Amino acid sequence: MPEPNDARPFLPERGGLKGLREAAAGCRGCHLWRPATQTVFGEGLKRSRLMLVGEQPGDREDVRGRPFVGPASRELDRALEAAGIVRDEAYLTNVVKHFKFEERGRRRIHKTPKRFEVDACRPWLDAELAEVKPEALILLGATAAKALLGASFRVTQHRGELLDSDLAPIVSATIHPSAILRGPPEEREEARAALVADLRVVAKAL
Ligand code: SF4
Repeated sequence: MPEPNDARPFLPERGGLKGLREAAAGCRGCHLWRPATQTVFGEGLKRSRLMLVGEQPGDREDVRGRPFVGPASRELDRALEAAGIVRDEAYLTNVVKHFKFEERGRRRIHKTPKRFEVDACRPWLDAELAEVKPEALILLGATAAKALLGASFRVTQHRGELLDSDLAPIVSATIHPSAILRGPPEEREEARAALVADLRVVAKAL
């Protein structure tokens, strides 16, 4: 039998964010749940004015069941603070809710989700957007930006811009904080400053 590729049959009809989170824990809408530890759903208050959307949970997030708690999250936390954004007042989530990886020895190496996997998981993000209705939406990295703004969108060309989109009154995209750690050490400070500058654009617009 072919693997399913659609989260919609798992979405609850009601129950708000709590109901969504509980239902997502049992999602089998695509093959990614199988090797992962658990669903990592979004986190934050329904009344959050700002939503940040990344790609997918990483190794630490998969183990802890919470988004943005791994090494890249430290970069994000620093950047948010420098931009004057209080993390606890934002809603943080990912376009894909299960960790996709390949095993190399004892290590689990992140693998970028493919378009069909992003599409399968998209109903959860749409439901989060419908519940939170953020005033501002920041897309972190190419996977999130392409998922929500179209495959031709280039973060490198449009990062830090206020974009015209129906997703929220204020929409912007920037790099994923993990890109700072993947880049050469001598370029990290510059990359950090650029991320802060992008986040400040949204903080100011809010
Ligand atoms: S990645 Fe998304 S669609 Fe696939 S099983 Fe996990 S929650 Fe469901």
